[in-house]
Amino acid sequence: MRLVFMGPPGAGKGTQAKAVAAHFGVPHVSSGDIFRGEIELKTPLGLKIRSYLDTGALVPDEITVGAVVGRLASPDCGRGWLLDGFPRTEGQARALDAELASSGARLGAVVYVDVDPEEIIRRMSGRRVCPKCGRSYHLRHIPPRVEGQCDACGTGLIIRDDDKPQTVRQRLATYQEQTAPLIGYYDQRGLLVKVDGSGTPDQVRARLFEQLEDAVERA
Ligand code: AMP
Repeated sequence: MRLVFMGPPGAGKGTQAKAVAAHFGVPHVSSGDIFRGEIELKTPLGLKIRSYLDTGALVPDEITVGAVVGRLASPDCGRGWLLDGFPRTEGQARALDAELASSGARLGAVVYVDVDPEEIIRRMSGRRVCPKCGRSYHLRHIPPRVEGQCDACGTGLIIRDDDKPQTVRQRLATYQEQTAPLIGYYDQRGLLVKVDGSGTPDQVRARLFEQLEDAVERA
């Protein structure tokens, strides 16, 4: 099973992607997680890409393709994978096609989680995180017991750099320009499964599984 998950930043695709990967028993490969891991470990790659993530810009294709394709070559990806957040540009989509062709594999489906941009700005502006223990909150959905303080360690909560309204707008603009065209690219090839991403995570998950089972049966 080889799946791609697409959608604007903040659409909640990461949560859904993890559930689907667990359901099919394949690794959840998130380019964003790979990059954040490198930044946290302060590797040479991490130092090089930090500014892109901080400003909401895309990491250049040469770096991204190398990092993701390298991960897909790991033994645990031999029986399939779920790609979350990759490809995000036409160049990356073509590199993925070439990689699939060279290993004689093909994509099962491309899931596109569709959410209105205004709703995304509303959702992301409520996110808060504890800088000490990493626990995350949402002012509307998962508020801390004491306003502005982490339930676990009492530290003052902050807004992650990439959740700041200015960065969110930049990430949405980048998405519209560079990633949204891939929806047509995969639709033309009959691979697209478009899922309405509004509502609670459970509602989205129910819709997604229903549509995905149908698509996988047809494939
Ligand atoms: P994500 O967690 O998927 O929203 O990714 C966080 C950030 O990592 C993005 O805003 C980009 O800066 C970078 N990133 C993740 N995936 C890609 C990709 N496929 N191509 C370029 N940059 C990426």
